[in-house]
Amino acid sequence: MPRLHESRKRVLVTGGAGFLGSHLIDRLIAQGHEVICADNLYTGTKRNIEHLHSNPRFEFLRHDVCNPLKLEVDEIYNLACPASPVHYQHNPVLTTKTSVMGALNMLGLAKRLRCRIFQASTSEVYGDPEVHPQREDYWGHVNPIGARACYDEGKRCAETLFFDYHRQHRVDIKVARIFNTYGPRMHEMDGRVVSNFITQALAGEDLTIHGDGLQTRSLCYVDDMITACLALMAAPADVTGPVNLGNPEEFTVLELAEQVISLTGSRARIRHVPLPEDDPRQRRPDIERARRELGWSPAVPLKEGLVRTIAHFRNLA
Ligand code: NAD
Ligand code: UDP
Repeated sequence: MPRLHESRKRVLVTGGAGFLGSHLIDRLIAQGHEVICADNLYTGTKRNIEHLHSNPRFEFLRHDVCNPLKLEVDEIYNLACPASPVHYQHNPVLTTKTSVMGALNMLGLAKRLRCRIFQASTSEVYGDPEVHPQREDYWGHVNPIGARACYDEGKRCAETLFFDYHRQHRVDIKVARIFNTYGPRMHEMDGRVVSNFITQALAGEDLTIHGDGLQTRSLCYVDDMITACLALMAAPADVTGPVNLGNPEEFTVLELAEQVISLTGSRARIRHVPLPEDDPRQRRPDIERARRELGWSPAVPLKEGLVRTIAHFRNLA
């Protein structure tokens, strides 16, 4: 039967009640698509999607991706997985299971439906990198038995499954290696650096710097990241990835803390606490592939993104 709106797609977003997933759904709905959000609310919240419930093109399904899912959709975005180190280390066995079983189940669905599938992979596949900045052809430096391995190795195995389904079953895949992303709707208790620093600064508490604070990160504002994910999904079939998505502007965690204190006007001070196991010393994406193949590069500078994120956290208070 011909579809009523040829350009309107039915899109499945797993992990859609989380930080990135909820922003992705907002953009898909704004583009006129129908969205099914499948989430078990492990780290996501109903609050992130409550504004969508009255929309007839939105549907929420409480579902754990470790179990198979049978429905009819035109595209799948697989984002379901806890993402912050505190959350993914809380139940490490479940993290690996979610990453691997979730990928298997969603790839099985994509194979049956012959539909395109996007995987939210991560810069963590590079581990504590010995090559800087990280390019997609770098194989990484991951401790397979450390505290971060449940996430790093889980995501690496998911990438393997994506490329094997592509080679073996011709599944149309898109693999994004997402670097640290921040913005409104980050969980205030998820322990990630931006949400921690902002909530601490607004409460006038010491900002907790892990180690000497000289480790580096590169932070991408959420709107830029969602634009990149949509561009990758819309790219021709031979653009499978993996493609790095992130903002190459690099700074130390200490510099970030100072900037948050200054932008919030807080009297908070800095407190050094022990560095967690296997914490990467440096991280910056080489985004030449994204520029070339997707025509994408980030547009929101750190200061502007932080101002918007601080405003969000102030409203929560
Ligand atoms: P998040 O924790 O806010 O969202 C993850 C969502 O997945 C949550 O809504 C959670 O309830 C859901 N979920 C977890 N386990 C599930 C399961 N078994 N079944 C169904 N749903 C489940 O994290 P996020 O920052 O939005 O990350 C989304 C995706 O992007 C993750 O796959 C993450 O690995 C990836 N990623 C994020 C970043 C980042 O900086 N935010 C960086 C790299 C990769
Ligand atoms: N970090 C910190 N203080 C905090 C939270 C995090 O110094 O309160 C550091 C953390 O050790 C890491 C960096 O900030 O070096 C980024 O941490 P995050 O958990 O956001 O992401 P990661 O890149 O480690 O996955």
